[in-house]
Amino acid sequence: MTKEINTILTAARRHCDTVIKPNIESWNEAGIWPREASDLAAAAGLAGLYCPEEYGGQGLSLGDGIRVYEELGKGDGAYAFALSMHNICAYATCGYGTEAFKTQWARDLTSGRKLANFALTEPQSGSDAANMYTRATINRDGTLTISGSKAWVSLAGEADVYLTVVKTSEIPGHADMAMVAIPRDAAGLSFGPRYQTPSYAFLPLSEMYMDQVTVSGDNIILPPGQGLQGALMAIDIARVSIASGCCGLMESALDTALAYAKNRKMFGGVNLDLDGIQWMLGDVMTELEASRLLYRSAANKLGTPEGPVMAAHAKRFVPDAAVRAANTCTQVLGGMGLLAPYGLDRLSRLAQMLRIVDGTTEVSRVVIGRALQKRAAGLADLAVPKGFGEI
Ligand SMILES: Cc1cc2nc3c(=O)[nH]c(=O)nc-3n(C[C@H](O)[C@H](O)[C@H](O)COP(=O)(O)OP(=O)(O)OC[C@H]3O[C@@H](n4cnc5c(N)ncnc54)[C@H](O)[C@@H]3O)c2cc1C
Repeated sequence: MTKEINTILTAARRHCDTVIKPNIESWNEAGIWPREASDLAAAAGLAGLYCPEEYGGQGLSLGDGIRVYEELGKGDGAYAFALSMHNICAYATCGYGTEAFKTQWARDLTSGRKLANFALTEPQSGSDAANMYTRATINRDGTLTISGSKAWVSLAGEADVYLTVVKTSEIPGHADMAMVAIPRDAAGLSFGPRYQTPSYAFLPLSEMYMDQVTVSGDNIILPPGQGLQGALMAIDIARVSIASGCCGLMESALDTALAYAKNRKMFGGVNLDLDGIQWMLGDVMTELEASRLLYRSAANKLGTPEGPVMAAHAKRFVPDAAVRAANTCTQVLGGMGLLAPYGLDRLSRLAQMLRIVDGTTEVSRVVIGRALQKRAAGLADLAVPKGFGEI
């Protein structure tokens, strides 16, 4: 019996209200990943959302499970993002890991005793992910020895295992790429200085260095030839998860603006009496409703041929809508919107971050553009009226 989605959504809402919202400012001040909070999230069933119950997961479909980030995103988009990446890694482990790897890691990941993240980006390659330098040599005994650098690794040094995309030859392109799990305590693994990210300082981010790191062949999650394809599937899930988190962020911004505007006295009434203010916030609400429909539709298409382009539509539209929502809601509060206690400035920076991570808005446009070219190729040529030359 898989857990009811409503039970999990209620748990996520409670986690947001009792753990994230009351503590987010102190987490940012401390600049430390709140491990006790992610332990509580795991205890509430939020660390193995799509993993089968035999491994301690909730057994939810992607379409259902992704809705959790909308609840968490009401508290903090970066926290929701980090948990979404952990869940994707747990899902990859249960779905694609070797039996030996699953035996060692699956239950630890679904229970949150161990955290996981994903390392694809390199200092010289973000959007152009195939331009990868990290190399794994497959040794005669089946082990792999890995050297290279990754960049923008979330949960850097905090996660217990990193699902790392590597090249396994010098041949250009992605045909030789694999995904390998590197435990944090592997000899030769180290992390660079923390990036300074004031709006989500609690999320450790840094480069990750692999100097002759040797791991067992059991740690191959995806063999050579499947690494980039698998990473792109993971990124599709991540894109829709981010769109889900953005909806939470938009709702949080909107409710802050409404709670303020209904009391702010001006011109013999209150701010929310002004048509202009109602229209601004009305547009935020319309975009929130549209965003919800889009990400939920995309989530239900994951794993089908339409999944990648639907994920691109969600990632293209929703974080942009979240940036507009956070900025509009800041504007509604006037100068007060810029003050820390209202949290709107933080939401603007988070929304902008969510436009970038796991494929930028522009990269989503590229995916959509390619799908349009395919669609055009399947259409009958449009006849040119007599008297006109070639179009
Ligand atoms: C907070 C945060 C956490 C992250 N966590 C992780 C992680 O855990 N693991 C991981 O592997 N990565 C992670 N990343 C990396 C992230 O996925 C990359 O930042 C992202 O893919 C963009 O790459 P880039 O930053 O190198 O930008 P670039 O690729 O250098 O892009 C620069 C600009 O060029 C634009 N551009 C690129 N291609 C095109 C095109 N064809 N047409 C028009 N414009 C284009 C981009 O949209 C962007 O505006 C994280 C990033 C952030 C910000």
